[in-house]
This record gives sequence, structure tokens and C-alpha cells, in this order.
Amino acid sequence: MKAMLLWTIHDFPAYGLVSCWSTHGLLACPICGSDIKTFHLKHGYKPCWFDCHRRFLSATHPFRKSVKCFCKKTKVYDPPPKRLTGDQIYEQLNSLTLDTKGKNKYVGYGKQHNWTDISCLWQLPYFRKLVLRHNIDIMHNEKNVSEAVLSLCLDIPDKTKDNVKARLDIAEICDRPKLHLTQKPNGTWQKSRAPYCVDKDDKLAILKWFKQLKFPDRFAANLSKSVNLDQQKFIGLKSHDFTLSLSASCQFHYGVSSMIRNGRILQNYVFSIDNYVLKKLTQLKCANLRGRNQFCHASLRKCFHQGSLIQWNI
Ligand SMILES: [Zn+2]
Repeated sequence: MKAMLLWTIHDFPAYGLVSCWSTHGLLACPICGSDIKTFHLKHGYKPCWFDCHRRFLSATHPFRKSVKCFCKKTKVYDPPPKRLTGDQIYEQLNSLTLDTKGKNKYVGYGKQHNWTDISCLWQLPYFRKLVLRHNIDIMHNEKNVSEAVLSLCLDIPDKTKDNVKARLDIAEICDRPKLHLTQKPNGTWQKSRAPYCVDKDDKLAILKWFKQLKFPDRFAANLSKSVNLDQQKFIGLKSHDFTLSLSASCQFHYGVSSMIRNGRILQNYVFSIDNYVLKKLTQLKCANLRGRNQFCHASLRKCFHQGSLIQWNI
């Protein structure tokens, strides 16, 4: 018997462990590498990739010239980063210099590269010729996106990323005066309701709609147990529930999109994820799909703000 490693599939943190390109810090994106303008949030302190990926859009895309929807007064003319081949990455790994003085293994870590080690997979003679060496499990992404969008739109306490620090950072980065905080005489901040959040009555109606959802046997867990109407929040939704909610269930999709001010955005995103799965089955053209995904990611960023999207690295 002969065996061959075609690719690896894992979530994003495991991507860092398997590929040895750390998925933490300012250079966490393994596609952009060191060619990225990540920055730290002034109030949230975390590294932020907001508006770092608009350059993946086509050169004539109208989002590129938008000075209001992304970082304020910023147009993007940069092309996407050059995609390195396996041979070029292998060459880069061989040129790393061991750092004998610092705490990192290689010189330039965190500034020129994010390599923590050289994966033993490179010892395979064909590994550098593979086109897709490491892949991210889409279910984890769907779960993160779905959870964050739901928590944000329903304004679920302790879950929503729309907090005071995020609003303060918005004032620094974006041109969205409606989301700015106002300071009360006692020094505390007054947070206005964001236009993408539903009001209390709609929130209750959506949760009740969730509670009565029915699916075919063995298709999904019993979602009604995950809705707490007293506390008005979800409890114990699993990855598959979120995956289902975002990509598989049309019922859920139309229910959620109707509560979002610009439901078209989520519709685009769901359509894109569905297409992605479909592509795997039918071998559709990858280039078209990648373009559509980048558009959908940018659409989500346009619709929401960086506070809610910071966690996802999309
Ligand atoms: Zn990137």
C-alpha cells in the first residue's frame, strides 16, 4: 500500500501548529504573510485586520474607492499580495537564521515572518509541489461568523462585540458618527443603539421563531432547547447548529436576514458559503469563487464594524 498526504484540514489555531506559521500577532494571516498593514486597536489593544483585505477585490471594484464605508478617508489601490509557491516558501524556510540571543527561534520573527519552526511535512519530497497544503475547516469559520452576527444583531449581553472599547475605536478609525459614544456628566459613556441591532420586540419575535423551528429527523439538534426566552439569549448552540443556521437552512437564513437592516449582505455571504461547498463537489472554477468570497467578506465589513469582525481574521 502507498499513502500520500494531499492536504491537512483544521481550524485556524491548529493551522498555526501544523504549518508552523504562527496564527497570532500582527502577521497572523498566512496568506498575506509579512505584506500586510495590521495595526493594534487604540482602545481594544488587540491586533486588527480591519480593511486589510480590500485589496483582494478587483481593481475596478467600487468598494476600493469608498472613503466612508471602511477606514475613513482611505482609498485602496494596492494589488493583492503575491501568492508564494511551495518552492518559494521552502526557499524562505531554508534562509531563516537561528536566533541564539532572543527568545524566538528565528531572527525577524513577528516582523519579517511568523515562522516558529520548520514543519516535518517539508521532508516529504512532493510537499512543496502541493497547491493547497493546509486548509481551514469551514465549519469553524461558519460557527464564528454566525455566532458573532447573531450576538451582534440581537445585542446579547456578554456575547456581543459591540462594547464601549469597540465604539471608541470606531470613532478613531471609521466615519460613522451615528455609532459614536456620548459622555455623560458623571464621566460614563452613553452607547446609542446601532442601526444593525433589532429592537426588543423584534428580538423576542426572532427567539420565539427559533424556538418553534422544526427540522427533519437527524438533520439537526433540537434548537428549541437552546433558546432561553426569559433571559432572551441562546444557550449551548454547537458548531453544527451555527453551521446549519448559516449555510444549510433556508428557513433560518430568511428569518435572520429579515432582521438585519441590510439583509442582502448576509444573503450574499450565505450564498457564497453554499457555493463553496458546491464547488468542492462539482469542481467549479476557483478564481470566480475566490472573488465572490472576498466581495462577501468586504460586504460584511462594510455592514458591521471592526469590533465585531476582529476575532475572525477574514
Ligand atoms: Zn490576509
